[in-house]
Amino acid sequence: MIRRNLQDVAAMLKATASHSVGTTITGVAIDSRKVVPGNLFIPLQGNHSDGHAYIEQAIENGASAALWQKDATNAPTDFPLILVEDTLKALQQLAYAYRNQLKATFIGITGSNGKTTTKDMITNILATAYKVGKTAGNYNNEIGVPLTLLDLDEDVEMAVIEMGMGRPGDIRFLTDIVQPHIGIITNIGHAHIVNLGSLENIAAAKMELVAGIQPEGILLWNGDQPVLKEQVDKHDLRTKTFGAAPTNDFHVKNVSPYEGGSHMTISDSPFIFDVPFPGYHQAMNALTAIALARLVHLTDEHIQSGLHTPIPADKRNDVRTIGHITILDDTYKSNPESVRAALQTLYSIKTEAKKFFIMGDMIDMGDEAIQLHQQVADECTPEQLDGVFGLGELTSYTILAAEKTFGTAKARHFDQEESLMKHLRSLTNEPCILLFKASRALQFERLVEALEESL
Ligand code: ATP
Ligand code: MG
Repeated sequence: MIRRNLQDVAAMLKATASHSVGTTITGVAIDSRKVVPGNLFIPLQGNHSDGHAYIEQAIENGASAALWQKDATNAPTDFPLILVEDTLKALQQLAYAYRNQLKATFIGITGSNGKTTTKDMITNILATAYKVGKTAGNYNNEIGVPLTLLDLDEDVEMAVIEMGMGRPGDIRFLTDIVQPHIGIITNIGHAHIVNLGSLENIAAAKMELVAGIQPEGILLWNGDQPVLKEQVDKHDLRTKTFGAAPTNDFHVKNVSPYEGGSHMTISDSPFIFDVPFPGYHQAMNALTAIALARLVHLTDEHIQSGLHTPIPADKRNDVRTIGHITILDDTYKSNPESVRAALQTLYSIKTEAKKFFIMGDMIDMGDEAIQLHQQVADECTPEQLDGVFGLGELTSYTILAAEKTFGTAKARHFDQEESLMKHLRSLTNEPCILLFKASRALQFERLVEALEESL
């Protein structure tokens, strides 16, 4: 993490420190409760709270200095401060300045689905040969990315930075700070389409990544998606593609699923990779990570060893078995592409047990929300699924469409969480696998927890 004397921090911010000598900062924190001794406390003003009000707690926890927004009241008098116009901007400016002092190779990753998973796979692979820093968890926005950069150790050789977006301009802002040597676009899907209007606009917004890519840098992108190709063609830069189509620079030759993962070969090597995460989409995420590893000349053995390192599941394709019940917990987020990925994962599991899909709304789907929910029913077939059960207003359209093939007993919509729970409990009398998938706001993890408790 950043380690500088206060004068240097002030210089990086083009500001002045109140105490001139002796203070050194180690790392930064925006939450006073998380301040550890030596931290620079950066209080941010939010809609509901103002971090400046917690300065005493930050000092008690051992902060060595703080940034202070000029219009904030009650500044502590006998404590090292750097006065700034805007603490959020200062956080970003400090991260930018620190980024420019680091020698690491920066890898910036964006896309609609699979950013965190791919970032973790890449980190594990690179860590077999390099000192690596990465985005912690999902810290991928205008606060998380600066915090990630400031958390990098000075001697890091590779930094893997996730960049998220909700609107046009978000990626442009982040890529200007990160200035990646290698940019990655995992895929384009409907996530956040409400703010962007169309897949074309989403692809264009992801392509903002290119603006920050270093002159000698390269873009690695999903060549299976024509909507992305249209955007890439508008830019003049070095690129490589990955995907299923044989036209891609790095393409999958063969994927054979087994319980809990897949074996995969890719275009440039006879090596059989073992991807120990279930689902075809995880093989694609692994392919992205392998392509990246190729760009930095890692061997198949390094790659395999990295792929075998566990990644935190955290409600993403999280498979748990309790007695004769298996729960596929994919309650972290939802959109048409990730629902398809989750269903394909469910279908790929070879079992005598019944398979049920418990679905909740996909939010932020914009004008096409109803149609997109109806189309999910096309992915549900009675040959592969023993029932589809829904909660949420939009999901009622999925269920209505699914009733045509499943009938009303096997495709049911519930108005109340309680009645759905009751139904789920009745299903678990016999061996079954239940896939839970909904957008974050639906808090489907509550259903999963309640069901697990009842087993
Ligand atoms: P966020 O935008 O919230 O940061 P993310 O892009 O980081 O999400 P992950 O957290 O890696 O994505 O995965 C979230 C969900 O997306 C997973 O639970 C899975 O259902 C789905 N997913 C992951 N990879 C893919 C993929 N390659 N294609 C389609 N869906 C995927
Ligand atoms: Mg993420």
